[in-house]
Amino acid sequence: MECELCGRQNANARVEVEGTSLTVCETCSRLGRRLDPMVVEMKGKKPAEIGTSSINPKFATIVMNVRKKLGMSIEELGKRINEKASVLERVEKGMRPTDALARKLEKALKIKLLDFE
Ligand SMILES: [Zn+2]
Repeated sequence: MECELCGRQNANARVEVEGTSLTVCETCSRLGRRLDPMVVEMKGKKPAEIGTSSINPKFATIVMNVRKKLGMSIEELGKRINEKASVLERVEKGMRPTDALARKLEKALKIKLLDFE
């Protein structure tokens, strides 16, 4: 790659010079502000709120069936794991629980939801 400033053949750096991004050689890269595409992309990206563990896609059915089998109402389950019944209702309707909530459900109902393969 040819340096856009001096024309040498070893351009390997991206820099910003007066608002223009250029591909330049190591020597010329000192003239501008170095651009690192990886860093730019990572900036402002929030980690996913719901977590990254894979969850059994049938979690809604599993939670509802096991809860009913145990003779628990949504309210009772909510009290047991310290969650609002409305949240659990939504989970049983298919809303993906957070990893933390899924773990609580796993424990309370003795089921496996996360790390689904
Ligand atoms: Zn150069």
